[in-house]
Amino acid sequence: MTSRTAPQPSWLDEIPARLADIERAHLLRRRRVVEPAGGARLRVDGQTMLAFCSNDYLGLASHPALSEAAREATHHFGVGSGGSPLVSGHSAANDALEHDLAAFVQLPRALYFYAGYATNTGIIPALVGDGDALFSDALNHACLIDGARLSRATIHRYPHADLAALETQLAASPARRKLVISDAVFSMDGDLIDIPALLALCEHYDALLLLDDAHGLGVLGPQGRGSLAQAGLTGPNASRRVLYMATLGKAAGVAGAFVAGDAAPIEWLLQKTRTYIFATAAPPLLASALRKSLELIAAADDLREGLRQRIAQLREGLATLPPELGWHLLPSHTAVQALVIGSNEAALAAMESLRQRGLWVPAIRPPTVPAGTARLRIALSAAHTAADVDELLAALGAHATDCVAALQQKAAGTSAAPAAAIA
Ligand SMILES: *Cc1c(COP(=O)(O)O)cnc(C)c1O
Repeated sequence: MTSRTAPQPSWLDEIPARLADIERAHLLRRRRVVEPAGGARLRVDGQTMLAFCSNDYLGLASHPALSEAAREATHHFGVGSGGSPLVSGHSAANDALEHDLAAFVQLPRALYFYAGYATNTGIIPALVGDGDALFSDALNHACLIDGARLSRATIHRYPHADLAALETQLAASPARRKLVISDAVFSMDGDLIDIPALLALCEHYDALLLLDDAHGLGVLGPQGRGSLAQAGLTGPNASRRVLYMATLGKAAGVAGAFVAGDAAPIEWLLQKTRTYIFATAAPPLLASALRKSLELIAAADDLREGLRQRIAQLREGLATLPPELGWHLLPSHTAVQALVIGSNEAALAAMESLRQRGLWVPAIRPPTVPAGTARLRIALSAAHTAADVDELLAALGAHATDCVAALQQKAAGTSAAPAAAIA
């Protein structure tokens, strides 16, 4: 303990070198300091940018009615909830929100959480454990994966959207309790899983289905009631096999998440979910803002129509990009539009080129997406105008032209090389 010999090297000393490794692999992430600047524009590190990176798909995050609801709630409830929900933190506002959420998604009961990450990492271990079986789409969101790992159930990972592979795994599993977990809309690709087919498999193999609709709620389904409602599997057609989870910090414009379903499994989750029981409840002001948000979402067919138009406009425009670059737009009808570029460097170069033109489109790299599929994740919103989307298309077109020129130069350089060698 008191030895005066040279200090032992500590693993802490390696951290700067490990950070440098991340930077060399073009994987270092940097935060930007952001403020709203009207419409889809943000002030980013002091500069105004047209942003295509927000999950605020309906533009509700800065809606004055939500701020007003939060302000009013603050007068009545104060700011903090003061406790965990099973002690003193379950405010009247949070309770009313749970009723509104259940009614909104047309399922018997809902449980409101402070974050989607905590919802999935908490409810999966509450549902299955050692000796049980989990079936997980390869492109599931990180918090579904982490929830699966925490549960200690046996994890079967099936290729993305490959329901035949899932069926083979389900049929082979001897476990009595089986849980299938899937994004409804995949967060980095924007595609929608075939929910009726997934549910039919769960029915056949006596599995429970947990669907994460973070990117569908507010955007898909009649009145934005989400992808389960779009599939016609809510209300009188609801299945007790489905736990429907969605987040409230995306299209709903506030924060938090919920899980909804049949009353018995929801009561079970309330009793058993550690991230629910041992955490301070979300502030009532957020619940109040969310109740207002649900009202606005239900009435926002005009915003959803505007969003659909922007999606169509973007997809049409991107179809004219030069094919020799090998970029490809993934199939998606949702607000998430992924333009796969390929290498980390090329995706970062595209992001940087757009940034210099005043546009903010994030490059998404491994491990968030599979290696070799680094991409621009273009998130559209009802807050975008047709002119905003045109601006993005023009900037991407200009960058693509530069890339084609660079390719041609490189090709010319390579074919010139043997000639130079001969000389
Ligand atoms: C954003 C997201 C989450 C996490 O929700 P938070 O409320 O941000 O913690 C969970 N699942 C998916 C698919 C998401 O996109």
